[in-house]
Amino acid sequence: MAQQEAAGCQKLQECSQTPVYTRKRGSDILRDPLLNKGLAFTLEERLQLGIHGLLPPCILDQNVQVLQVLKNYDLKKNDLDRYIFLIALQDRNEKLFYRVLTSDIERFMPIVYTPTVGLACQQYGLVFRRPRGLFITIHDRGHIATILKSWPENDVQAIVITDGERILGLGDLGSYGMGIPVGKLALYTACVGMNPQHCLPVMLDVGTDNEELLKDPLYTGLRHTRVRGQAYDDLLDEFMQAVTERYGQKCLIQFEDFANVNAFRLLSKYRNKYCTFNDDIQGTAAVAVAGLLAALRITQNKLSDHKFLFQGAGEAAMGIANLILMAMEKEGTPRQQAVFKVWMVDSKGLIVQGRDNLTKEKLLFAHSHPWLRNLSDAVHCLKPTALIGVSAIGGAFTAQILKEMASFNEQPIIFALSNPTSKAECTAEQCYRLTEGRAIFASGSPFNPVTMEDGRVLYPGQGNNAYVFPGVALGVVACGLRHIDDDVFLIAAEVIVAQVLEEHLAAGRLYPPLNTIRTVSLAVAVKVVEYAFKNGMASLYPEPEDKEMFISSLIYSTDYDEFLIDSYTWPEEASKIQTIKK
Ligand code: NAD
Repeated sequence: MAQQEAAGCQKLQECSQTPVYTRKRGSDILRDPLLNKGLAFTLEERLQLGIHGLLPPCILDQNVQVLQVLKNYDLKKNDLDRYIFLIALQDRNEKLFYRVLTSDIERFMPIVYTPTVGLACQQYGLVFRRPRGLFITIHDRGHIATILKSWPENDVQAIVITDGERILGLGDLGSYGMGIPVGKLALYTACVGMNPQHCLPVMLDVGTDNEELLKDPLYTGLRHTRVRGQAYDDLLDEFMQAVTERYGQKCLIQFEDFANVNAFRLLSKYRNKYCTFNDDIQGTAAVAVAGLLAALRITQNKLSDHKFLFQGAGEAAMGIANLILMAMEKEGTPRQQAVFKVWMVDSKGLIVQGRDNLTKEKLLFAHSHPWLRNLSDAVHCLKPTALIGVSAIGGAFTAQILKEMASFNEQPIIFALSNPTSKAECTAEQCYRLTEGRAIFASGSPFNPVTMEDGRVLYPGQGNNAYVFPGVALGVVACGLRHIDDDVFLIAAEVIVAQVLEEHLAAGRLYPPLNTIRTVSLAVAVKVVEYAFKNGMASLYPEPEDKEMFISSLIYSTDYDEFLIDSYTWPEEASKIQTIKK
């Protein structure tokens, strides 16, 4: 035994990185996506792990495997097939999946996340191959702690949860919404390097009000309408409590794609009690404000010099509007004045004082003004400098509206943020052409660059929340920030805009290129950690002197681990290794 241990020690020293001990062996290794390396297992590992003969004899390194994946990927005929192919890779070999994603994030993000993930959610019953994450239903009340125990990882640091009621701009997709937490967490790893083992996607199935799904024999969720009221709230309370008991108070819980009736309520209920944020409200706010701050570098003025008109007054609109107020206050504009710079149109027209049934969130932006029927009338009458589309009404920025914006603004700011692409208020091409290329444009879904008649190529900015939530999440878990206030999101916006170079702005880009997202996310994480320590909100001790180095040390590597068998469990196999070495 002593000899075997000595062999193990020597092996440890030889390895460039710390080897991983595993008690698993044989085909279990190949079926475990965290351990499986496919044809990259060395001969030594194959013998040691009992998989020699279960693989073709060729040994490939990870770079060749990436080429193989890319070649296969190119054979796929449409984006949904590409999505299914990549998710299957994630289910087979997680390191290789992330290696591929990070090799060209700009290319793969629209597949693993919006817009393709929307398509995948709509057909989740067909796309579903292997379960990923936890499915907790309204009928599991009283047993959530037990369900959490079924999850094999003990060190979960971040959870993304949805109840599937407002998936992107696609509405209620019930249990099919699981594609969203899975996709968001893939971006946690791809965009900033959170270890996927520390991440848990959760689907809270309380039923669905989507008639088509209820009738569909292939639907995989609960077959009844949504349970609301006290039973729903009790389920959420129990979930939050059970998570903190199992994974500690520092476990981050990101809310995603809840309908706005619940999103605002749950955020204000939990934000000072748990480590939580709502990406649709706060993440969206940060990325949109980052785009606006970048736009100001073009218009050369302040936020308070603008008049913002929102199409839509839901989660995204309220989050963005409130962060605009915070940013204006930081510029020096008193809040009472700032609020008059923000106007909103919802499904019932312009939000004004005296309109019926305005929610508390909408009341803040209800000004004393005659009611106007729709966006077109509001643009005509209010003459805004910036239009922000977050209503999920595709084509809402009509040719007439875009032309009118260009008639009284030298450089109108036009953000068509609704997702997926079919819901965008206008396309990049429509916006640039109808404003003679003068508009400062950003969108929620990706659009191709547009070549203008004069030869100029304009690159539309994609206001992708992925610039925000991975960096915020890593910063929060790295320093043990217990509560995430809105300052964190304003900081994230400022960090993002600081990464936008003059040459990007000149080409119309309001965001750093997507292929620099890892640098941007790291910078966001570092600033969040600095903010937490500066304000006495971090629970990590001692304070790391070099925060960037500290955060970098936490980043997940897509390089394969080297395996060593647990010599206590498999002494026979360990001795075989020595034979091979000889
Ligand atoms: P939500 O359901 O909370 O809000 C939608 C709002 O649109 C509501 O206020 C509703 O009254 C309003 N609306 C509906 N019909 C309208 C009409 N005809 N005219 C004017 N307003 C109308 O949804 P949300 O979370 O605010 O998201 C809205 C859209 O923004 C979605 O498409 C979502 O995908 C997108 N979004 C994009 C990003 C991003 O690009 N970074 C982030 C978050 C949300």
